[in-house]
Amino acid sequence: MPPTFAFDQPGVRIRLDELPTDPPKGTSRKEAEARLAELGEELFELQDLLWGARLHSLLVVLQGRDTAGKDGVIKTVAGYLNPRGVHVVSFGPPTQEELEHDFLWRVHRHTPRKGEVAIWNRSHYEDVLVVRVHGLTPASIWRERYGHICDFEELLAEHDTIVRKFFLHISHREQQARLLERERDPRKAWKLSVGDWREREHWDAYTEAYEEAISRCATPRAPWIVVPADAKWYRNLVVAEALVEALRPYRPVWEAHLDALGHKARAELAAYRAAARTS
Ligand code: AMP
Ligand code: MG
Repeated sequence: MPPTFAFDQPGVRIRLDELPTDPPKGTSRKEAEARLAELGEELFELQDLLWGARLHSLLVVLQGRDTAGKDGVIKTVAGYLNPRGVHVVSFGPPTQEELEHDFLWRVHRHTPRKGEVAIWNRSHYEDVLVVRVHGLTPASIWRERYGHICDFEELLAEHDTIVRKFFLHISHREQQARLLERERDPRKAWKLSVGDWREREHWDAYTEAYEEAISRCATPRAPWIVVPADAKWYRNLVVAEALVEALRPYRPVWEAHLDALGHKARAELAAYRAAARTS
């Protein structure tokens, strides 16, 4: 099992440069891929129970710098799920209508309903990341948002939403390699954006913003997981493992609930047949 860098207590200072971006030494890619396939099957089963029982929902928040692999995680991890119950939502620059509301308005509409999984590619955290780094709102406004975010996620948890937030942690060097690769590879060049290079110039400001967001908004019911993301195969494994671990404890609850539903349905059918015989 990979070591996890999970943070679930608010206020514990974290330093990203002390957290790994590489897989632990000696991790075998072959074994990791085999393990991922197993986890994928378990994830599929757990999602089926989640869907049937409709007692909880799952919210997966993906954050990371450009090229960190948010889309890659969606492709791989969501690929194990039944699309019937999954909503993937990407949050880009806010529209005029969104800007004219409070910052949580646009995300709250996309929270998962019972039985469903929502995967957010970027999220309400952008409002304390890009907004902070570029001074898009006054500091007096974004500073208040950490508290609002914690309250919002607590509200979701109160409503039986299982929340997991992932920071895909890549190194400065790996980001450069990925940006250059995009430029070289004609099949990837469509993803190129001057904005990515421009944002890279603000690397340290983003580091500070991420550290504060993670440390202030890490809570027992909405933990942050800092994922070593320089190797894609390892990144996918860590995310899948964390999701399976988040859902697994509910398996007996969902199974018992589905069992009770099955009993009730059988009893209703038996009563219907008995009534049909006597009439
Ligand atoms: P991408 O993920 O490459 O599609 O890019 C989405 C862009 O939207 C990123 O540059 C984000 O920084 C930007 N973005 C997302 N949310 C916000 C926000 N609340 N305010 C400003 N920019 C945002
Ligand atoms: Mg981008």
